[in-house]
Formats: sequence, C-alpha cells, structure tokens
Amino acid sequence: MQAHNGMYIDGEWRPAAGGGTIEVVNPATEEVIGAVPAGTAEDVDAAVRAARAALPAWAATPPAERAARIGALRDALAARREAIAATVTAELGAPLSFSQAVHADLPVTVAGTYAALAAEHPFEEELGTSRVLHEPVGVVGAITPWNYPLHQIVAKAAPALAAGCTVVLKPAEDTPLVAQLFAEAVAEAGLPAGAFNLVTGLGPVAGQALAEHEGVDMLSFTGSTAVGRRIGALAGGAVKRVALELGGKSANVILPSADLVKAVKIGVGNVMANAGQTCSAWTRMLVHADRYDEAVEIAAAAAAKYVPGDPTDPATRLGPVVSAAQRERVTGYVRTGIAEGAAVAAGGPEAPEGVERGYYVRPTVLAGVTPGMTVAREEIFGPVLCVMRYEDTEDAVRIANDSEYGLAGAVWAADDEEAIAVARRLQTGQVDVNGGRFNPLAPFGGYKRSGVGRELGPHGLTEYLQTKSLQF
Ligand code: NAD
Repeated sequence: MQAHNGMYIDGEWRPAAGGGTIEVVNPATEEVIGAVPAGTAEDVDAAVRAARAALPAWAATPPAERAARIGALRDALAARREAIAATVTAELGAPLSFSQAVHADLPVTVAGTYAALAAEHPFEEELGTSRVLHEPVGVVGAITPWNYPLHQIVAKAAPALAAGCTVVLKPAEDTPLVAQLFAEAVAEAGLPAGAFNLVTGLGPVAGQALAEHEGVDMLSFTGSTAVGRRIGALAGGAVKRVALELGGKSANVILPSADLVKAVKIGVGNVMANAGQTCSAWTRMLVHADRYDEAVEIAAAAAAKYVPGDPTDPATRLGPVVSAAQRERVTGYVRTGIAEGAAVAAGGPEAPEGVERGYYVRPTVLAGVTPGMTVAREEIFGPVLCVMRYEDTEDAVRIANDSEYGLAGAVWAADDEEAIAVARRLQTGQVDVNGGRFNPLAPFGGYKRSGVGRELGPHGLTEYLQTKSLQF
C-alpha cells in the first residue's frame, strides 16, 4: 500500500528531523495501514528553503516548458490510477468505484487543464500605454484536508506550478499516503528539485509552522472555517497573499415546476457521495410546502438504498466516515437535530445494523428542519440530509441565503431560465442548474464565510500571480 515512508524535500525522500511518525488508520477496518513522518518546524524550514532556492529558476522557466512538466505530472498521476484509488479507499474509506472515478480521475483532469493553461495563459498583456506582467507570487504554503485528498492537492499545486511558483505542501494527517503518491508522480515528471516539497505532520505543529514561516509568500488553505480564520489572521498579520476554501451548508432549491423525483434522488446522491464529506454538498434540501411530504418520502427511500458496506467491494455506495472523531461529530449532530425537533425519516444516530467495526454512519434524512435549528446552520460533514419546507419563491431564496456559508447550491425547475432567475439571487460561489455538469475550468470558491479566492481553471491560476506594470 505505502509507496514511500518519507517526506519529499528538495527532490529527496527523508524522515522527519525529530524522528517522529504518525500512524494512518483504515476507517473501514480500524487497522493501522501505514505511518508517515511527523514533520516539525525544522522540516518545514528545510522545505521552505528548498522551495525558495528553486524559485528563481522555475519562475524563469518558459511557460511552454512548465506546461510540459505539468503534462508529465498529469501522465504520472494517470499511470497511478489504481494505486491512487486503492490508497484513498484505504485511508479515507471512500467506495472503490468513487475513488476511481472521482478521487483518482478528477485530479488527472485538473492537472490536464493546467498543463494547457500554463502554455496558453497570457502572462503579459498590453493595457493602454503599459505592459502588464503577470509574475509568480513566490513560495506557496499549501495546507489541505482529507475529504478529497488528492484533488485538493492538485487544485493548489498544479496552478501554483503553472504560474511559476514553488510549493510546500502540508496534507491532512488522516490521508497522507496519497500525498506521497503525488510527490512520487512529481519526481517522475521531472520537476526540478525543490519546486514541490511535501511535509507530512500534524496541523498544529507542521501546518502552524508553515503558516507562520517568513519564507512563504502565499498561503493556500482548504479546510475548516475555524482553522481558516487562524490562517487568514496569520497571513493578514504578515501581509501575505491568502486563499481560503472553507466549509459550506449549500441549499438545493427544488422549485414547484421541477421533476420532483429526479431532483430529490439526485439531491440525496449528492449528499451521500463520499459519505457526506463534501464541502459543496447540497445538505439543505428546500421543497415547496405542497410537495414537502412527498419529497421526504422519496428522499427517505433513496437514502435507504445507500447501505453502509466494505468500501473495497465494487458494489458499495456508502463507506465509513474518515475517523472515530468524525463519526461522533456526525451522530452528535443527528442527536442535536432530534432534540431540537427534527424528525428522522431515514437512518438515525445509532450504529448501522450488522456492522461490527469501522466508522460507519447510517444514511440519514432529517425532516421538519427549520432555519434556526443547529443542523440547518452548521456543517455536519456526514451522510445527513436536512429537508426544509418553503412557502413561495421569496421564502426559498430567503432560507437558502440564511447561512453564514455560501459555497455552492442547486436550483431545479421545469426549464433552465426559471432556475437561473433564482440562481442569480443565491449568495453562493457556484450553483448547479437542473443538475449541472462538472466543469474543471469553472471557478470554485466561496461567498461569505466559505472562503476567499477561487480554485480551478484560469481563475485558479491568477490566484498565484501578481502583476507588475511597465509604463513607457
Ligand atoms: P481542518 O481545518 O481541521 O484541517 C485542514 C488542514 O489544516 C489539515 O491539513 C490540518 O492538519 C491543518 N491544520 C489543522 N490545524 C492547523 C493549524 N493550527 N495551523 C495550520 N494548519 C492546521 O479541516 P478538516 O477537518 O481536515 O476538513 C474538513 C473541513 O474542510 C470541512 O469544514 C470542509 O467543509 C472543509 N473543506 C472545504 C473545501 C472547499 O473547497 N471549500 C474543500 C474540502 C473541505
């Protein structure tokens, strides 16, 4: 399973300076499946120095050559598809078919877009009498979470490298093995030593050291709003560029004209995917009062089909959540929802039947959820859908926007124009219209407390560029 047992710094694999390690646990079996170095400030410092040393040459490398290396990185990731999928299934618990189609294939797609954008992006432009140069920001400190572990790494490293930046990555401690596979692909792709560096370790130790390091020019963080606030404060204090991709509580607005069965079933699938551990999941389903009971019934029946099971079985659609702590958090929210008056239409906080080990949670539908309830306001990050009632379109828009978050959302109607009219009124960074279709070039990121900045496509690339204007 584990390809390497070191950290990748300055083109070499090495143990942590302090000699410590962190065990990696399979959430389906509760068994230890590997160990990675527990990096400390000393390792972070070595990685940042390597990134800084590599910066001038990489920044000066012609865009076409940077594009060729990122293209090779894309190919090296594609060649590791099965190893990546098996690794994410083992350390995250995602069903194997989902790991293949999403955790392994999506990063290949995204790396491919940056291989193209690195070559095509206008790094210089004429503006009136000026020439504007778009130059790399410098050394990027990237800190990523465990829920889409490789996608989140690629969504930062690929545009940063395409821009001419160098990178130090601190991946989540729950899913560090796939980060090692990524570093292996970087090495195979022929990127110069120091252009990309991997430091594994604990958030408050290695992550904090990276966020505080003076040699880092930009911080790019994906994770919880609580940690994002700290990273933002550190970046603000040091006057550094920062990008934050944080939590969400996205609304799925089903208008009365929509195909209810289709909208509800796809809405349930959206929440159950990756065991509900998706920041952009449509966790609040908003249904018109006239069709509310019908929608709850459809949702409950659809959720019950997500039978928790062994994620290595190709037929499994719902694996465990990532850790025991996450299971406690999710079931705690379900209990809070019940205590505050929500009704359990499917699932519930009890352990699933027939499961003896593993951090499994029942696929749960909570009905009768009202905007003031904790489960309607806070991110649960598990296979839990809240179904909420609205009276008219004004009410639906008000409830959808009644959140500190604004990451994603969906609107369903009989025709796209009707749905778009409502989508325009949602305070959120992305809206899927009548189901939507994933576009790797579309900007992804949050309004309100869901974050700062955008990832993916050309918008994701410009995050890593700073402008210099030459006047003649
Ligand atoms: P988290 O904030 O606990 O951890 C994220 C990363 O930050 C990890 O690498 C962790 O080690 C590190 N970290 C923790 N404490 C730190 C500190 N003091 N200093 C520096 N780094 C530190 O989040 P998580 O539990 O791993 O991930 C779940 C959260 O991520 C959810 O809230 C989810 O919505 C969010 N998320 C957002 C997006 C997005 O694109 N908006 C994508 C995925 C996940």
